[in-house]
Amino acid sequence: MNNQELWTRALSEIELSVSRANFVTWFKDTHVIEHRDGNVTVGVPNGFSKEWLENKYHKFILKSVRNLIPEIRAINYNIVAPSDTASGDNQQYPQKIRSKKDFIMQAEEQMEFKEITIDPRTNLNPKYTFETFIVGSFNELAHAAALAVTKNLGKAYNPLFVYGGVGLGKTHLLQAIGNYIVKEDKNKKVNYITSEKFSNELVSSLQNNTVQNFKEKYREYDLLVVDDVQFFAGKTKTQEEFFYTFNALFDAGKQVVFSSDRPPKSIPDIEERLRSRLEAGVIIDISEPEYETRLAILKSKAAERKISLSESSLELIASMVQKNIRELEGALNTIQIQSRHQNKTLSLEEIKSILSKNIKPKSTITTAQIIKTIAEFYDIPERSIFERTRKTEIVKPRQIAMYLIREDLKGSYPFIGQKFGGMDHTTAIHAYEKISEDLKRDSGLEEEIKSIRGKYQNQK
Ligand code: ADP
Ligand code: MG
Repeated sequence: MNNQELWTRALSEIELSVSRANFVTWFKDTHVIEHRDGNVTVGVPNGFSKEWLENKYHKFILKSVRNLIPEIRAINYNIVAPSDTASGDNQQYPQKIRSKKDFIMQAEEQMEFKEITIDPRTNLNPKYTFETFIVGSFNELAHAAALAVTKNLGKAYNPLFVYGGVGLGKTHLLQAIGNYIVKEDKNKKVNYITSEKFSNELVSSLQNNTVQNFKEKYREYDLLVVDDVQFFAGKTKTQEEFFYTFNALFDAGKQVVFSSDRPPKSIPDIEERLRSRLEAGVIIDISEPEYETRLAILKSKAAERKISLSESSLELIASMVQKNIRELEGALNTIQIQSRHQNKTLSLEEIKSILSKNIKPKSTITTAQIIKTIAEFYDIPERSIFERTRKTEIVKPRQIAMYLIREDLKGSYPFIGQKFGGMDHTTAIHAYEKISEDLKRDSGLEEEIKSIRGKYQNQK
């Protein structure tokens, strides 16, 4: 696991237990600088961040990284000048803290927010409910299916499999199911877990000879929610154990709900029998919200947080921030903080200038990003894409890479050929035509390409 991956995964766990505002304030502009001999060094933008993380979040951070790499013993926090921290993640949480004064102001503001408590019995975060989940055409099927599950636990839609890109509300929706069920009947046994945590728990139960407890625990639930199952990829032992757990639950009429960033058929390195279990119920995707829905989401979130913004300001934000709901929340946050700081309502021009600093035009995608994303998606080494081989597991990703460079970067065929180690441009043409042709018939391929695009467009 490289530094960035380690930190991204740790953050996605931390995010579940920290209020949105605190998460944005204290964890943006942080990254892992080094990870060696059980020591992790986290880069932070300034001394306040450092103090805050050390005093308030240290144990929690340590726990989250240990969940991923149990050997980690210590974490240090080092101040890194903001210009050095430009990583893919910053753009997700876009405010800039410039001076000490700004920072103190933010810290005071955060005090108003109550830290959110995760219920240790269920691992559910109470903030994710159906009441706060906004429904639009992009997610209405997923929402309807989730509701159907709550009405008919274990009977309708079992398992329910929801997939879609980051920040589109999968975790929120899945946890809403769990929160609803425990609220209706507190005797119901509900558990939320990420696939990674499941895997880590299994590994430590194997080490401690407590596998039997592990097995029993997971076979007791009336509802088991497993988030981000794409991380089961390549973990054979976990897949095997999960397969048995799933069967036991399913045979007993218990409900299982999954999320993933892609449909089951596109998860690489997964045993066929497990894949067919994932596919056995209902599979529903959440797409990206269109303009009207983004506007509705902004209105509702602004009202919820008592942020007063004019209709035209909200329209401006909805038209500029297009990626996902997490980004919309981030934009509102930035604007709220700026406006409190300047003690006035921001003009349209000011909002535009704040947001445009954080939004990069699409043209900044590079061939390297496309290739890297594809290699990660298909779980093959990046360099193998350039190898002159006819192995199908390489040929397909390579052809998709050529196709996407042509489609999204408008790369010429000779340019593409040259990028791929001086291949002839006819190879590039062939690849482009092959994928275009396959796309007409193969809806699985279409999904894969959609997921890949979603990923590199989110990295910008
Ligand atoms: P994912 O798991 O798909 O990456 P999350 O569920 O973590 O996305 O959602 C990201 C953020 O957006 C969360 O703060 C969540 O509450 C919010 N969010 C997502 N979808 C909705 C929605 N339909 N209505 C309200 N808030 C949403
Ligand atoms: Mg999620």
